[in-house]
Amino acid sequence: MVNLLLIGPPGSGKGTQAVRIARRFKVPHISTGDILRQAVRDETPLGREVAATIAAGSLVSDELIANLVRARLDWSDTASGFLLDGFPRTVAQAHLLDQWRSDLVVVHIAVPDEDIIRRLSTRRICQSCGLTQSVSEEWGRTEDCPYCGGTLVRRDDDEAATVRKRLVTYAALAEPLITLYRSRAGFLTVNGQQSPERVSQDLFKGIDSLG
Ligand code: AMP
Repeated sequence: MVNLLLIGPPGSGKGTQAVRIARRFKVPHISTGDILRQAVRDETPLGREVAATIAAGSLVSDELIANLVRARLDWSDTASGFLLDGFPRTVAQAHLLDQWRSDLVVVHIAVPDEDIIRRLSTRRICQSCGLTQSVSEEWGRTEDCPYCGGTLVRRDDDEAATVRKRLVTYAALAEPLITLYRSRAGFLTVNGQQSPERVSQDLFKGIDSLG
C-alpha cells in the first residue's frame, strides 16, 4: 500500500515517470491534467467549464479540483494505494488531501527552467489517445502518434508565452508546497536532468526506501 504524490514542473518528465511508477507499484495513475483534458475533448459540462482556463495556462479552482480528486479517490482501485499527478498544486489543496488520506510519499522531480522551456518546445499531444510525448526537433506535421496513429499537435498550453506563465505559476505555488512536504517524513527529491531511465531508477529506489 503506497499513497504517492508526484510534484514537478510542466515538462519535467512527470507524466512519463508517473506511468512507470504506477506500473511498478501497481497503483492507479490519477493525473488531474489528463482527466480535465479528456473532459474537454469529450465536451462534458466539466470540460466546457474548464476549457478556457486550461488553454490560458491558469489553474482551475481549488474547490472544483478537490471535488474531482475526492470522488476519484473513492474508487475501489485505490484500495492498495494511488499515484496522484498534478494534485495537490497549492498548499490549500494539500491541506484538503490531508483530511482524506495519510501516509503520503511525496516525490519531487527537479528540473531547472531553461531545460523545461527547451523540452516543452518539442512536446506534442495525440488528439486521439491524449498521450503526451516528445518529437524530434525537425518535427513536421507528418509525424503520427506511435501508439494509436492519431494526429500529434502542440498542446494549447505549450505555446511559449503560456509556458512562461505556467512556469511562474508553478514556481510560486510549488515552493511553499515543497516546503510543507519537506518538513514531513516521506519526502524525496530526484534529479530530473538525467536520462528517463536513470530518473526511473532513482524514483523506484527512493520510493522503495520510503514506502
Ligand atoms: P497539467 O497537465 O498537470 O499541467 O494540468 C493542465 C492544466 O489543468 C493546468 O494548467 C490547470 O489548468 C489544470 N489543473 C490540473 N491540475 C490542477 C490542480 N491540482 N489545480 C488547479 N488546476 C489544475
